[in-house]
Amino acid sequence: MWRHRLLVWEEEESVKKCSILFLNTVLQENANDTWRWLLDTANGYTVSGAYSFITTSGDLVDRSPVDDVWHKQIPSKVSLFVWRLFRNRLPTKENLVHRRVIQPDNVACASRCGHPETAKHLFLDYNIFGSLWYHVWLWLSISFVNPGDIRHHFQQFTNMARLPRATHLFLRIIWFATAWVLWKERNNHDFQNTVCYSSILLEKVKLNSFSWLKAKETTFNYNYHD
Ligand SMILES: [Zn+2]
Repeated sequence: MWRHRLLVWEEEESVKKCSILFLNTVLQENANDTWRWLLDTANGYTVSGAYSFITTSGDLVDRSPVDDVWHKQIPSKVSLFVWRLFRNRLPTKENLVHRRVIQPDNVACASRCGHPETAKHLFLDYNIFGSLWYHVWLWLSISFVNPGDIRHHFQQFTNMARLPRATHLFLRIIWFATAWVLWKERNNHDFQNTVCYSSILLEKVKLNSFSWLKAKETTFNYNYHD
């Protein structure tokens, strides 16, 4: 009985709220309905308008690395992937549990280390995926202290103090390629049950960064073996 009354009351409240929404609406009998982009009613929807809306609203804390995500030499799908990674919006198991897509008892990392699969664990901890960074550092002959936070990791990696500024774009591309290879490897591991050796993953990082650099940079006169 109480439950029934509560439902009736909730329905009445919803109808009231709905009618308030239409208070200032004037129906025009002779006009057709159309879609309108409220952010720019004169010119309609544009990608740049939507982008500037997204990047200027909401979470404004520590935005600098987010702006480094977009670059003409990085495929936009990869930029979008890193943008989601920085905001912890990738479908990691932790996030899937949070969105109630999977049950909490399925949250474990695919490497069976017993840790929940969070973005930080997947990308930075020393496991079958995150250990790829150590091979990247060896390849570049750099020593690096893992800051344990994805944005700081990116900032520190791409702005390494002792390296000239000209290398920063290359480092940024290598960072993106490593994160991208890691995520694809995690998906292959989860969905196709395949495992790659770190040496092969490192070759994929090299190949991806090389092809992104080569694709749009006409002054990049090196071949893959250089
Ligand atoms: Zn793990």
